[in-house]
Amino acid sequence: MGAHRRGAGPHQRRPPGRGDPLTPISVEAYLGGILAAVRPLEPSERALADSLGLVLTEAVISSVDLPGFDNSAMDGYAVVASDVAGASADAPVRLPVLGDVAAGDTTAYDLGAGSCRRIMTGAPVPAGADAVVPVELTDGGVDAVQVREPVAAGNAIRRAGEDVRAGDLVLPAGTRLLPHHVAAASAAGAATVRVRPAPRVAVITTGDELVPVGEPLQYGQIHDSNGPMLRAAVLASGAVCAAVVHVGDRDAEPLADVVLRLAEQADAVVTSGGISAGAYEPVKDAFSSGADVRFETVAMQPGKPQAFGLVGERGVPLFGLPGNPVSSLVSFETFVAPALRVMAGRAGGPAGLRATVTRGWRSPANKLQVARVVLTRSGDDWCVEPSGAQGSHILGGLACANAVALVPPDVTQVREGDRMDVRLLPGEELPA
Ligand code: AMP
Ligand code: MG
Repeated sequence: MGAHRRGAGPHQRRPPGRGDPLTPISVEAYLGGILAAVRPLEPSERALADSLGLVLTEAVISSVDLPGFDNSAMDGYAVVASDVAGASADAPVRLPVLGDVAAGDTTAYDLGAGSCRRIMTGAPVPAGADAVVPVELTDGGVDAVQVREPVAAGNAIRRAGEDVRAGDLVLPAGTRLLPHHVAAASAAGAATVRVRPAPRVAVITTGDELVPVGEPLQYGQIHDSNGPMLRAAVLASGAVCAAVVHVGDRDAEPLADVVLRLAEQADAVVTSGGISAGAYEPVKDAFSSGADVRFETVAMQPGKPQAFGLVGERGVPLFGLPGNPVSSLVSFETFVAPALRVMAGRAGGPAGLRATVTRGWRSPANKLQVARVVLTRSGDDWCVEPSGAQGSHILGGLACANAVALVPPDVTQVREGDRMDVRLLPGEELPA
């Protein structure tokens, strides 16, 4: 977020979570406080096959040579190269074929001069053979073969250990396991790996007005969209969703109980709604009188009210997100997702882009605006325009957006032609 032109100075006077909760705190300072409070999860040994996306805490060292044995790089014939030195299309060399060596054949064959074996890609090269003639340079014979071109010694042979030696480092600690890493670790014999687990996140939605999607609405009721959305955001971030629970507004006590119960099983708890200034704000009512959870006004739009603290005996991070769906999602991406990455031992973050504004919009003073935008490709450049109205309850505009633009606090009018920092919405791909 290179957007904060006012600098961090004014916000360094107090760490997040201290002082007057009505004095806005910058996004960077608030996030900084969260990231300082969360810790990487304890590593454990896991099946490699179940470790996609997880970060190694121990290097993968190969237990084998790769390749493990001299093997053929092509389908053809294992030969003694000097036997075919004089071969040509006009005067092919004829060799008797002693039999086949298929991939997976565990027999140790010997080959003498004046003969050959038909061999397949990946099959062990018989002792005594020093080259493979590709089938394309022969007549493809089964009992005897006509070789039409010479090959050099060593041709089409993959040498034992030429890729990796037993004891070599294959993947350093800190690697986030992706399919290409899984391939290397598998080949190297690592059935299990030591990794940080994916954080287990419990989601709590609050609000007496909420009805699960699929059930009919009465006047004054709405479908719970944050529950499914936050679950999806958790999954899209690579974390595990441990539970999605709904709690009503009227009684603060059950909410605290639910949070503490979930904090025993989960690595983080995320609540939606119930943290702002009105009555019936159950998260605020449950936690604002204690010292563990701090309620803050963050200089961001949407997502102004926020709460964060460590709860339960294990000091599990609790993220209190605002209830408006757009605010909730923006808050998740801005504060929760980076914290989950730290817990998972991940060093990086989502790719950012710079894009040219094709239609301007207004932005509030002194706040980082996280504007929902439509990102399109235009030749070699990226372009953005606002995605409908920017209200924090506007789900239609959110659904049409594929990215957010980060408008710095000192900008009140975004103009056509401006260059903006842009981030894709979770799970979105770059447009074609
Ligand atoms: P709150 O933060 O609880 O005051 O809620 C702010 C707004 O967000 C209200 O209009 C709520 O109805 C709405 N809201 C809260 N939670 C949800 C939810 N889970 N799904 C959809 N809208 C919600
Ligand atoms: Mg509410």
